[in-house]
Amino acid sequence: MLHRVSPASAQNESGVTTDHFRNCLDYLATNDYTLISLEKLINALRNNQKLPVKSVVFTIDDGYKEQAETAIPIALEYNCPITFFLITGMLDQSLWPWDAKVSWIIEASSTQSLESSPTVKKLNLGNDDTTSRKALRRSIQEKLKKHDTEFIARILQGLADDADLTIPTRPPSAFQPMTWDMARSLENKGVHFAPHSATHQILSNLDKASMEQEISNSWCRLKSELNNPLKIFCYPNGTALDFGISEINFLKENGFLGAVTSIPKNVEYKLTSDNYIHSLPRLSLPDNMPEFIQYCSWIERARAVFA
Ligand SMILES: [Zn+2]
Repeated sequence: MLHRVSPASAQNESGVTTDHFRNCLDYLATNDYTLISLEKLINALRNNQKLPVKSVVFTIDDGYKEQAETAIPIALEYNCPITFFLITGMLDQSLWPWDAKVSWIIEASSTQSLESSPTVKKLNLGNDDTTSRKALRRSIQEKLKKHDTEFIARILQGLADDADLTIPTRPPSAFQPMTWDMARSLENKGVHFAPHSATHQILSNLDKASMEQEISNSWCRLKSELNNPLKIFCYPNGTALDFGISEINFLKENGFLGAVTSIPKNVEYKLTSDNYIHSLPRLSLPDNMPEFIQYCSWIERARAVFA
């Protein structure tokens, strides 16, 4: 699972660098791994077919312009089938998701204003949560995702006020979404696109009708803008708390072939439940080689089995 992939020169505290992504693909190519598409994986699981022993699947979430310009060309260069999950509202209206706003505020704030921010204090984070900008961003996102849209908006405003910042109404360049034209041209080059909700709200926080709309709207938008979108869903945020049986049932009833989470595990052949294909785990691409190699080895699998 990839999110942001930035050139090494970019001051981006989240995600990995383009060089690192390249090194990972080099490692897989020279160590007999087989890159397969998410569609192929899900078809194999559904039809009980075996896949090559060392198979790896790549996905990338959200739909920023930067992702289309950095990660995707590298994936294509290595013939790496990649599935791109899009927040369709972002491509439609330049919507700027709240979690991206948190990242922007943290990156744009001075260290001093972050240390003295009354809003940060009010959030009551642990000491470890404020040791770096990255830790602070993650902890604030973790805290906020349990709350409704109004609360989140209030906190974002408070954070911006404390740092003397104005949150731009349109996303700044680092958070610029890709356009549908870009998506269509990448689709022609073999990139798969699939829905990741309309507005990136956490589905388990929504009432049933809004949850269903988030899923249906994003699928409808993909269907009308692209030639061949994949009917596989990606839950916003994607931890076990962020979706549940009603989301899974809705996807199944509406013919979705599967769904992916961000629960950090390897995918198993042995389906642990009827809902497994609609709640597939994914490992986040680590930002260093030793951890990446561990993730691709039996060590990670053994850890999961014996955990
Ligand atoms: Zn996302």
